[in-house]
Amino acid sequence: MFEGKFQKTLWKKIGLIAGLFLLSGCSASVQPYWLSPENGRPASSAGSSCCSSQAVQPSSRPAVSAASSESSSSSCPVHRRIKDKTVFLTFDDGPSDLTVPLLDVLDRYDVKATFFVVGTHDKNEVSDLKEIVKRGHAVGVHSYTHDYHQIYASSKAFFEDFDKMHSLIQRATKVDTKICRLAGGSLNGYNKKTRAEIIAGLNKRGYVYYDWNVSAEDARKGATPEKILKNTLDGIHSHRVSVALLHNSSTKKDTLKEVPTLIQTLKKEGYSFETLDPSVNNRPFIFYHSADTSSAGSR
Ligand SMILES: [Zn+2]
Repeated sequence: MFEGKFQKTLWKKIGLIAGLFLLSGCSASVQPYWLSPENGRPASSAGSSCCSSQAVQPSSRPAVSAASSESSSSSCPVHRRIKDKTVFLTFDDGPSDLTVPLLDVLDRYDVKATFFVVGTHDKNEVSDLKEIVKRGHAVGVHSYTHDYHQIYASSKAFFEDFDKMHSLIQRATKVDTKICRLAGGSLNGYNKKTRAEIIAGLNKRGYVYYDWNVSAEDARKGATPEKILKNTLDGIHSHRVSVALLHNSSTKKDTLKEVPTLIQTLKKEGYSFETLDPSVNNRPFIFYHSADTSSAGSR
């Protein structure tokens, strides 16, 4: 009797352990921050981490943001080593009537950039999106409406908006983009209550979000071409690798005007330009870290 009871309890325990094991293997398993691959192993080089491989080995599992604490060891992508003096120019809030002129400037200097785009209801939106991709630039989701109140009201509202933009990009360009930038950055005054759930949702769906460590401050009141150039150059000069935030909405003529000087200066100084993709570790370039819940970096 005692033995039977003991065996029953034992089997219950084994069942429970096996259940937990299976559960962790089948879901996008949640690991504590301190156990995540990125933190469990020394990084191979500054600014990159060294885990295996979503980026190089396609798998049926969704790609998980490499830098997120939610990544499991089996779905953690390789973060490529980013060489010193690399600049990721990112342009938000396009496409607009300034997109093709910007693409022409980038072509002139043979520079590739990343565009985080919005729904503009413009008749040229689809052709502009196509042109961005055709000319070799990266495209990522920013927001369809860019309405902070609406998109940060709930995780559901966020993903309705997000999916709409993702679909629009995919229909226009055939690109199933996995990169994004949250409107206002991942840590803003509107998403305090919803950001954790939104970031967890992005990670779970395999999207990698990027904020920035350099800002042109071209969306600020009183921005002048000189200030835009100075802000961007000063920021880039103070980082080994930069993700620079600039804008490409139709009002940002001053930004467009400064891009040639910006590129010429940086090229002369030995900088090179790349586009973002999930193999670029987002961790140095995000404000909101879901694991440690602290804000990182300044906006
Ligand atoms: Zn924006």
